[in-house]
Amino acid sequence: MDFQKPKGTLDFLPGTVEKWQYVERKAHDLARRFNYREVRTPIFEYTQLFQRGVGETTDIVQKEMFSFQDMGGRNMTLRPEGTAGVVRAYVENKLFGEPDVSKLFYIGPMFRQERPQAGRYRQFHQFGIEAIGSVEPAIDAEVIAFGLQFFEDIGLKGTSVEINSVGNTASREAYNERLLAFLNPMRDSLCKDCQNRIDRNPLRVLDCKVDHDKFADAPSILDSLDEESLTHFEAVQRNLTAMGVAYTINPRLVRGLDYYTLTAFEFKTQSGIGAIDTIGGGGRYNKLVAEVGGPDQPGIGMAIGMERLQLLLADQQTEIDDKRPLDVYLIALGEKASAEITKQLHALRKLGFSAERDYLDRKMKAQMKSADRLEARYTVILGDDELERGEIAVKSMETREQVTVKLEDLASALK
Ligand code: ATP
Ligand code: MG
Repeated sequence: MDFQKPKGTLDFLPGTVEKWQYVERKAHDLARRFNYREVRTPIFEYTQLFQRGVGETTDIVQKEMFSFQDMGGRNMTLRPEGTAGVVRAYVENKLFGEPDVSKLFYIGPMFRQERPQAGRYRQFHQFGIEAIGSVEPAIDAEVIAFGLQFFEDIGLKGTSVEINSVGNTASREAYNERLLAFLNPMRDSLCKDCQNRIDRNPLRVLDCKVDHDKFADAPSILDSLDEESLTHFEAVQRNLTAMGVAYTINPRLVRGLDYYTLTAFEFKTQSGIGAIDTIGGGGRYNKLVAEVGGPDQPGIGMAIGMERLQLLLADQQTEIDDKRPLDVYLIALGEKASAEITKQLHALRKLGFSAERDYLDRKMKAQMKSADRLEARYTVILGDDELERGEIAVKSMETREQVTVKLEDLASALK
């Protein structure tokens, strides 16, 4: 029997995983500077949460969810995105009772049953932030600036952000009417999904990947914004400008989720991954907290796809600090020496050195090669003779110089 990983999933092996750890370190550090704190929510939730919190008319809920029944017959779903779970946790744990805005981040796997291709998988990872409890345009701008700063921090080039406003409820109703007047005459020429979307949530038609070109002349939602929506949108832009953040306005940008209000944005890459040029996105969701049973609290967030980042970092040959050189490799020649090496190895590790020895009973030469492969800074060699004298040889792998030190001075010699 040959086993293979499930379709659309990836193994991250040593050599690659360091690049993930590098990006995760940068994510944690940026979150600290922006004062976002980590939350960890379950990887599965009740299916209803996503039906409510992502929305019945979205691609995710209609065709992408990994759902199953637990033994109690409850409908469960592997999380397809992070926001619904975070908002559920915010409500359930009454974080709305705290005096400050809840600024939260998460990093973890998400699951969507999609057709796999480069940059699109069935298990993938997102780094996302959510700021819940403020309607201030300054926080919209902060969330957008956070994303761009993250790309800069990891050393990614050629990224940009497109922003839009999908308005408040009143503006969107006004826009839906104008959009329907534009879409109805072409109804029969649209893809099956869009024919469905027209009746349920016409805005989503603009997000179609099949018929995208047909909507170039669609009315702009910006012309339908009421004063409240427009004031907010302009203030977001003023805040971005104040931070020196460049952006472009894309009036056709709508996001997949149903509960977005006002600000919507997407992070783009110039280089592209096949046909894909989006690496993240987000928006304001002033209706979502109430939708999952909480008080009427506004929120905004964004999520970035980590696999897409990794593909771009590799493409751009970005210099990544992912080296893990070994401090010391210990070689024993002889049986008594071997026991002493075991003792020294553990003592060095306790003191904070990264240290390794041979476990395959190999010859000295093979062990030296192993030390080279591990990029050991020092190799320590102990024979039975030296052991008798209470001494040990320390070789610098860089200068190839060798000195002999007292066994008890080994740690200080290595420092
Ligand atoms: P797309 O239009 O590419 O399907 P989306 O609108 O479904 O994206 P979001 O739900 O906004 O994507 O998720 C935010 C980010 O998460 C995406 O920009 C992308 O980087 C990443 N992402 C989404 N789905 C996948 C997937 N199946 N595989 C890998 N990354 C993904
Ligand atoms: Mg998608």
